[in-house]
Amino acid sequence: MLIILREGIGATEASGAVAVFSEHRLTATILGTAPRAVLKVTGGSAANISGVAATIPSVERTFQPEHEFVLSSREVQSRDTVIDLGDGVRIGAPGELTIIAGPCSIESYDQAIRVARAVRDSGATIMRGGLWKPRTSPFSFQGLEAGGFEVMDRVRAETGVKFVTEAVDEASLELVAEHADMIQIGSRNMQNFALLKKAAKARKPVMLKRGFSATIDDLLAAADYLLAGGNARVALCERGIRTFCTHTRNTLDLNAVPVLRALTHLPIVVDPSHGTGRRDLVPAMSMAAVAAGAQALMVEVHHEPECALSDGQQSLSLEEFADLVPRVTAVAKAVGVRVAGAAVRV
Ligand code: PEP
Ligand code: MN
Repeated sequence: MLIILREGIGATEASGAVAVFSEHRLTATILGTAPRAVLKVTGGSAANISGVAATIPSVERTFQPEHEFVLSSREVQSRDTVIDLGDGVRIGAPGELTIIAGPCSIESYDQAIRVARAVRDSGATIMRGGLWKPRTSPFSFQGLEAGGFEVMDRVRAETGVKFVTEAVDEASLELVAEHADMIQIGSRNMQNFALLKKAAKARKPVMLKRGFSATIDDLLAAADYLLAGGNARVALCERGIRTFCTHTRNTLDLNAVPVLRALTHLPIVVDPSHGTGRRDLVPAMSMAAVAAGAQALMVEVHHEPECALSDGQQSLSLEEFADLVPRVTAVAKAVGVRVAGAAVRV
C-alpha cells in the first residue's frame, strides 16, 4: 500500500509516520518527498495498513498503486507540475506552449549567437545546444565539451535565452548543473541510474528524454529516480522510438503524449527533430505534437544546416524556423494554448 502525506510534509514528519507504522509491526519506507512525501507500507493487510494510516494526522490518502511508477504519477499529484526557469520562462504552465530551439551541437560563438538571436526573435525562450554529444560513431564530432560553457555564458548574457544542454556522465553533469539552466539526460542514458541519481541531487531542472527502446512505463519509472532523489523539476521528452519504418530516423510516438498527459503530472516536451530525422517532416510533426497536447517543443535549428557538425539533415534553417512558429501558434490557439513569450502574431 502507498500512503501519501499532506502537502508540505517533509522528511522529518515522514519519519514520524514511519515510526507509527513500526509500532504496529508494519514496515514503512519513504519512497521520496517530491512532489509529495510518499510511504510504501508492507507487512499487513490493506485494512490493517489503512486503519493505522487513519490515525496519523499527516496522512492524506492510502491506496493500492496501479503502476510501478509512483512519484511521477497523477495518483501522487493530480495537478500539473510547472517548471520555472526564472525570468518568466516556464515549462508546463497552464495554457502555455514553450519553444526550445537551437543547434544539435554548439560549434562556436559565431554559430551560437546567430542561432540564439534568430530563434529568440522567432519566439523561442530556451536554447538547446549540445556540448557533450553522444554520437553513434566515435569518429563523428563529439562536441566542444567544457570549452563550450564560455560560449553559452556569453550568448545567454547577450540574448537572455535560457539553456538546456546534455550531461552524458557524472563529471559532465556537475558542470552542466553549474552552467546550464536545465540538464538534459539523453535517450541513451534514460536508464543510466547512477546518472539519474546524481541528477536527482542537482539544483537545476532536468529534461529526461525517452530511451528509443523504452516503454512509457520505463520512462516514468526512470523519472521516479529523479523525483525520489529530491528533484521535483522534471520534464519528459518524447523523441521517437525504434520501429520497422525505414523512411524516418525514428518514429515519433505521438500516442505517448496524451497517454503521458493522463498518467503523469510532469510536463511533456516533444522533439520532432530526432523523432523524424528529416527537416521536411519537422513542421508537420511539430504542429501534430502541439495538437496532441505537448507543453513544449524542442526543435533543432542551424544557420547553415548543410554545414552543421551534427544532425544538419534534421535541422531547420533560421527562415524555416521563423516560418514554423506562426503555424505552431495557430495550432496552439486552436487547442486553447498560447506560445509563451513569443512576439509572433497569427
Ligand atoms: C539531443 O537532443 O541532442 C540528442 C542527442 O537527443 P537523443 O538523446 O534524443 O538522441
Ligand atoms: Mn541532434
